[in-house]
Parts: sequence; structure tokens; C-alpha cells
Amino acid sequence: MTALGPGSTLGILGGGQLGRMLAIAAYRLGLKVHVFAEDAAEPALDVTGSATVAAFDDTRALDAFAAAVDVVTLEFENVPTATVERLARRVPVRPGAGVLAVTQDRLHEKELARRLGLETAPFAAFDGENADEIARTLTFPVRLKTRRLGYDGKGQVRVTDPASLRAAWQAVGRVPAVVEAEVAFERELSVLVARRPAGDVVCFPLAENRHEDGVLRETTAPAAAAPSTVRRAEDMALRLARALDLEGLLAVELFETDTGALLVNELAPRPHNSGHWTLEGCLPDQFEQAVRAACDLPLGTPEVLGRCRMVNLLGADVTGADRWLAERSTRLHLYGKAAHRPGRKMGHITQVEPGA
Ligand code: AMP
Repeated sequence: MTALGPGSTLGILGGGQLGRMLAIAAYRLGLKVHVFAEDAAEPALDVTGSATVAAFDDTRALDAFAAAVDVVTLEFENVPTATVERLARRVPVRPGAGVLAVTQDRLHEKELARRLGLETAPFAAFDGENADEIARTLTFPVRLKTRRLGYDGKGQVRVTDPASLRAAWQAVGRVPAVVEAEVAFERELSVLVARRPAGDVVCFPLAENRHEDGVLRETTAPAAAAPSTVRRAEDMALRLARALDLEGLLAVELFETDTGALLVNELAPRPHNSGHWTLEGCLPDQFEQAVRAACDLPLGTPEVLGRCRMVNLLGADVTGADRWLAERSTRLHLYGKAAHRPGRKMGHITQVEPGA
């Protein structure tokens, strides 16, 4: 397939804020957009001309969606692989089912990293039965995480001693899990890599992330880091992108330890919250780069416009958000969500210190 330009239709699976920002980027490039969302209240539906609101297993709705679009991308990696496989019989889906099969499952992500010789926290699969083996092989405290469907610290429990492992597993729903040693990291970093079907790959600058209660609160970018650290992080992202045969965007979350080691924590095959700083701080931004990659258009070489900061507006932060409108060099992004709940991502601000 040749590159898709103006007039072609990009299908987006998922209707959250990432889909909303992907859609805006696609329109700027002259594309049309069709969003497939499971819930009519989702934020991407406010900005799109065409939409399907249906369940991801509604085969008739999926077939009609496939017929209406030229390429499909996604803003949410937990789309069932059967959904993606069905669409892929009719239209290119980027990233594809193979990338999702790995990135939907924390165990598969860690095994991939290990196969590539990349460091992770020491880990083991846990099915409720092998607590003794874990007690022998991992140093506590550990984090028990569901293999699938966990995000923003959900589906995750800190366990301080082996005797509490089974109770923690019951608390997360007795589902297949992974247990990993807690890392005393110095800081959290992330790197985004884009790869187009033609094979070109490009990384965004390294970002530094601060989480609160498992949820991203603040990103600063480019991260203050030695050139050798930046090179290692980028090399890790490039190897993961190539090993996955990525078509699209991949976020790689890393822990940096006090000895300077970089450990792979988690992968996400889509635009990522830690890349929102690029909206004002980098040309192109992560959403446009994701659209370019999905459409097999030339990728941009990221040009950073200054020292950038992104702060998430979580839950009730949104009620006082208009104060940011009075701040210089600050842009307010609100996602248009009707109701706020503690920890829910309602919007974010970006600040750029030009030329810094
Ligand atoms: P995750 O959902 O795996 O990204 O975890 C959410 C957050 O919990 C991370 O960003 C870290 O701040 C923290 N966390 C997760 N795993 C570990 C670990 N093995 N050691 C220390 N902190 C962790």
C-alpha cells in the first residue's frame, strides 16, 4: 500500500483522550477520521466527523468500520486481538495484532526484553500455586501485577513478605499475574519510538516522569541525562520496535537505578501520556508522528523547541483549571470529560521555556 494522504480516512480504535488528540493531528494533515468507541460519552467523539459506537466484539459494526476507513490505528492497547485480526483481513491495522499480543501482557513484554538482552526487574509468572518458588527466587518487597488489563497502578499490589502473596493474588481477582522485585530506582524515564511500514525508525527525546500513587503526575523533557544514557535508552527502544516489527508508535517506560542501569518496566503501542509535552514542545508532536507512521508517511525528525514540562490534571484538579489560562508560556488541554473521579485524567498543561 502506498502512503495515505489527504482525503483518506484514518480509523481509530478507542475513544479516549489519546484518540481525541490523534484525530486532531490527523485532521491537520487533511485526513478524514472515523472513531470506533465503546461508549458514546468518550472524548474523541466530540472532535470527529464519523464515529461508530459499538462493542469491540460487534462483528457487523467492525465490518462496516473496516469498509469506511483506509487504515486503522489505536489509542488503547487492550482492544481484543480477535477484533484487530478481523479488521486486518480487510484493512491495514497499525500497530497490528502481533504487537498487541505482546504489549497486552506484562509477562510477554518482560520475556521479550529478556530475549533481547535488555534488563528488567527480576520477575516470575505467578498463577497462585508457585508462591514457594517465588519466595526462593525473588527478594521482597515485590509488586504483584495482573498480566493483562492493568494500568495506572491498577491491578497491582505491593507485597512485603512471601506469606502475603496468595492474599494479594486474590485481591487482584485470582488471574494470571507476574511478580517482580521492587526496584529502588533513582527516577523513571520514558522514550517514544515511531516506526513506519517502510522501516524508518525515529525516537523522541528521553522524558523524565514522576508518578503519584501509580499515576503519572509530571513529565519534564528532554530529560537531563548523560549522552550515553540517552543513547542506551534509544537503542533499547529501537531494538524493541524492530523486534516487534512495529508499525506505529511505541512508548517504553524505564527505571533508572543509582548505578545508571536502565530497566524496561512497561510498553505501550500508542501515543503515551509521557509524550504530551511534544504537543507544544516538539515538531512533530507524538500524535502527528503516530498518524504519519500509521499512514506510512515520512516520519519527522523531532525538533525540540525548549525545555518542557507537562503536568496532568487529575480528578478535581480540573475544577480550578482556568487559572492556567493566566500563566505565560502555558497551554491548557482539557479532554471534555463530564465527570471527574479521583485520579481520572481530565486534562493536562504544557509549559515550554523556549530555547532552553
Ligand atoms: P506500572 O503500571 O507497571 O507502570 O506501574 C505504575 C508505577 O508503579 C510505576 O510507574 C512505578 O512508579 C511503580 N512501580 C511499578 N513497578 C515497580 C517496581 N518493580 N518497583 C518499584 N516501583 C514500581
